[in-house]
Amino acid sequence: MPVTVSRHLLTIVFLVLLLAVFCQQNPDIVQQTTYNMKQWLVLLTILTLMSNDNKARHGESNIEHLRNLPENTNFKEIPDSFWQKHLTPLQYQVCRKAGTERPFTGYYNTHYKDGIFYCSVCGQPLFSSKTKFNSGSGWPSFYEPISPDAVTLHEDHSYGMFRIEVRCSRCDSHLGHVFNDGPPPTGKRYCINSVCLFQKE
Ligand SMILES: [Zn+2]
Repeated sequence: MPVTVSRHLLTIVFLVLLLAVFCQQNPDIVQQTTYNMKQWLVLLTILTLMSNDNKARHGESNIEHLRNLPENTNFKEIPDSFWQKHLTPLQYQVCRKAGTERPFTGYYNTHYKDGIFYCSVCGQPLFSSKTKFNSGSGWPSFYEPISPDAVTLHEDHSYGMFRIEVRCSRCDSHLGHVFNDGPPPTGKRYCINSVCLFQKE
């Protein structure tokens, strides 16, 4: 997260310096209305990029809904309307409606901080960072779950393919799929949507 913020700050500083140099060298043009419009467009673009990034980061770690649920909650009995109301749109679409986030967009795709990856819907421990590897697929990849009963496997015949779907065993949320082209020691590749995961900071 701080890496993303500092990247934006550097971009803004660079653009401001660029504008300052441009203004110094072209004092006449600065007076023109067209230039002012361009300036506003640049500022708007920066603000839009920053607001989109904030939304994405918020979506990754949005577990506020868990704070209001009792510890012994049976997550499989929670109605769909609750998830629709409390999860982010991307979280709901991917985790509850078996969607897929766009590759290379998830926060945890290139995130290698040590620790446990929890289900972002119910908080159950799912994967350890020790089993995470770079598959190049664009999604966080692990060679095994944190324990055999952390996930359940289901046949998936959608989109004319045969795949094995991976779900969280506690809340039944869709996590991703598992393939047989992973590294040793298991040879498995658990291809998991980043938005279904979160790590404690
Ligand atoms: Zn779960």
